[in-house]
Amino acid sequence: METNTHTAALEILHRVFGYTAFRGSQGDIVGHVADGGDALVLMPTGGGKSLCYQIPALLRHGCGVVISPLIALMQDQVDALTQLGVKAAYLNSTLDWQQVQEVERRVLCGDLDLLYVAPERLLTDRCLSLLDKLEEDKRLALFAIDEAHCVSQWGHDFRPEYLQLSALHNRYPDVPRIALTATADTATREEMRVRLGLTEARVFVASFDRPNIRYLIVEKDNPRKQLLGFLANHKGEAGIVYCLSRKKVEETAAWLTSQGIPALPYHAGLPAEVRADNQRTFLREEGITMVATIAFGMGIDKPDVRFVAHLDLPKSLEAYYQETGRAGRDGEPAEAWMAYGLQDVVLQRSRIEDSVAPEEQKRLEAQKLNALLAYAESPRCRRVVLLDYFGEASEPCNNCDVCLTPPELWDGTVAAQKALSVVYRTGQRFGVVHLIDVLRGKVSDKVKQWGHDALPTFGVGADLDDGAWRAVFRQLVAGGMLTADLAEHGAMKLTDAARPVLKGEQTLQMRRHVARKGGSSSKSRS
Ligand code: ADP
Ligand code: ZN
Repeated sequence: METNTHTAALEILHRVFGYTAFRGSQGDIVGHVADGGDALVLMPTGGGKSLCYQIPALLRHGCGVVISPLIALMQDQVDALTQLGVKAAYLNSTLDWQQVQEVERRVLCGDLDLLYVAPERLLTDRCLSLLDKLEEDKRLALFAIDEAHCVSQWGHDFRPEYLQLSALHNRYPDVPRIALTATADTATREEMRVRLGLTEARVFVASFDRPNIRYLIVEKDNPRKQLLGFLANHKGEAGIVYCLSRKKVEETAAWLTSQGIPALPYHAGLPAEVRADNQRTFLREEGITMVATIAFGMGIDKPDVRFVAHLDLPKSLEAYYQETGRAGRDGEPAEAWMAYGLQDVVLQRSRIEDSVAPEEQKRLEAQKLNALLAYAESPRCRRVVLLDYFGEASEPCNNCDVCLTPPELWDGTVAAQKALSVVYRTGQRFGVVHLIDVLRGKVSDKVKQWGHDALPTFGVGADLDDGAWRAVFRQLVAGGMLTADLAEHGAMKLTDAARPVLKGEQTLQMRRHVARKGGSSSKSRS
């Protein structure tokens, strides 16, 4: 960047924002955009994305236009900027007619450095003609497209209006654009570049490591008890517990409250006032546990969330990263805990299978789920696996469950063969509970009824207990060698991938099942 841009940028950083130095690549990004370049910025939540467009907007002539899908966040940002003496305003559906006119007046008379706009409003004729007028006098400083991953059609934050934002470049070719997101997987990255017309933009990728977050995954056996054990290490602290369904959110919140843990529910099915109330309480009061579906999160700016717990498996590693990333934004130690079991894998797999989505999307979702399962089952450092998924190399962290208590690996080939052949011998019509009974040689009513005690595989698995067998089945489902048919009460079916194992052509390393108590590792947080 040009030296005087750099000097001017630092001056604004000190004088307006009161910070001593740029963080990571902030300085380079600011310089690049202030000098008129396009940028795609990938930076984790809390990394400091706002300054990347706020400072260039102040450095460049005219008003910077920030496109943001989050109305609540717009207001927070504008309030914060106004307090710092920056002239900022927003246009969204919360304003009445008079307020809109006042903002438009300020835009036109050059009284604004930053204008926040919701995407659906930006694309209206009224707003575009406002921008046209600015452009006539070369008073459009830049376009900042926040939460740029909303353009990804298969992401769960998809906003159709984002697809139309590429039109900005055609209409205002000389105005620099900066797109920002905390979403990092390479597929979404490419989608953003293409769909936003940013193929020529410089890409800035910050490190996605969140060193203060400790990642912990436990095998699910009694999830409530396990959760309680985990929460015992977080008394009086704020945190989020994610569940898949609304019903489970409500039940879990009520149950935690009955256990003396102040908890509130949050999901899209609650009345808007209740949601807003609960969110406000969570943000303002200390030590609240928010039990929520993924409806809770995007744009929640609470720095001292000390833990994020998952009672259900998220959809993808990306989602897991986003959700766990809401912990420890203040840089202080925080924990990301997840209880994970066979049922989770079965549910997520069949959610994809049974959806009416196009094949292409199903394939993509299955890949994403596989990456998450591989992470959950991996004997490698959680952080190494997580960052590797985002294309970042790293060293074992010594701050995750795998590093702190390495899992014992064993050669599970023979056990896998037994499990797969019992699935085959019983006609691929039974769920795991029954299959384990047959393996362990238990003469249950169902075993007698089907004559499974006469099978050659009956009792061949007496050397392992129920938990160990469940872990074997879970790893086989996670590895794609078995699928569960939910339409048939979770009946296990073999896939093509099972063949080499059954034929003895492939060996399988497995994690040893350990009946772990509670959540956190024994080492205390330092
Ligand atoms: P993001 O949008 O990437 O989640 P923000 O822009 O909200 O992150 O910044 C996160 C926090 O870091 C804010 O409190 C912000 O004031 C602070 N911050 C950003 N840049 C710096 C900096 N260079 N020095 C100190 N604090 C910073
Ligand atoms: Zn580690």
